[in-house]
Amino acid sequence: MKIYYHDRITLPLPEGHRFPMPKYALLRQRITAAAIIPEGDILPGPAATYEQLTRVHTPDYVDRVRDGRLSEREIRQIGFPWSPGMFQRARHSVGSTIAACRAALSEGYGLNLGGGTHHAGPDYGQGFCVFNDCAVAARAIQAEGLAERIVILDCDVHQGNGTAEIFAGDPTVFTFSIHGQKNFPFRKKPGDLDIGLPDDADDPIYLDALEEGVDRALAAAGADLAIYLAGADPYAGDRLGRLAVTKRGLAQRDRYVLDACRAAGLPVAIAMAGGYGKNIEDTVDIHFQTVQLAAEIERAGRDLQD
Ligand SMILES: [Zn+2]
Repeated sequence: MKIYYHDRITLPLPEGHRFPMPKYALLRQRITAAAIIPEGDILPGPAATYEQLTRVHTPDYVDRVRDGRLSEREIRQIGFPWSPGMFQRARHSVGSTIAACRAALSEGYGLNLGGGTHHAGPDYGQGFCVFNDCAVAARAIQAEGLAERIVILDCDVHQGNGTAEIFAGDPTVFTFSIHGQKNFPFRKKPGDLDIGLPDDADDPIYLDALEEGVDRALAAAGADLAIYLAGADPYAGDRLGRLAVTKRGLAQRDRYVLDACRAAGLPVAIAMAGGYGKNIEDTVDIHFQTVQLAAEIERAGRDLQD
């Protein structure tokens, strides 16, 4: 299973900033230390091209991100101070998801150790999201003729408003989001299937809703590729999550999503998406268990073929 990272590009953030920049490098270190993926399969993600980005985002917005011409308001909405690294990091994050999709289509699974920037819309960024990696990847894969119909299974605790807006009225990309109803973004955009959970939803509530939602999404989408946003932020110990799901519950979620996709014969590209644990190690644990499970399922499938 190929996994793509882009943690060598970091953004200078002010002291006390809420974004957990170190989680990406910590996650990769954990994967390397556990030796669950051959080292040659852990690869730096490529940069998305201008052409790829502008299938989803307006050229004007992409240019202004690149050249540092965003307004104060736009920068505040993104939540990172602008620096030249912003464009570089964002396009490698997008490129990593595109690469993960290609890997999934040829090998069954592919992984981006970041991405899931689902709040970015056609001409704006929001909530730590500059470009929408999953949307750009879906369009790239369609443009290359590698898949016709794509289902986006967004299990980050925040609604995938940007993704929903980008694919509104497009029957070829099905957008599913399961999220905290009272959480950010406060103005949600309707996707193809949205499940808004109450504050403090625990494992049974979360998993019941998830299973029903994933089943409905897969049945309705008729997809040939799934993109799974495996957010760590529904976790009870998350600072921005407002739900009460345990690590075990999130492992069950991953298992359900990956099993359901396998049963439907769907290749899966996985992006890590959000995770703001009060303790960063908890966030890394949750992402790590997603990677571990995908590696396990992939290995089991290969053993069956041998
Ligand atoms: Zn989130």
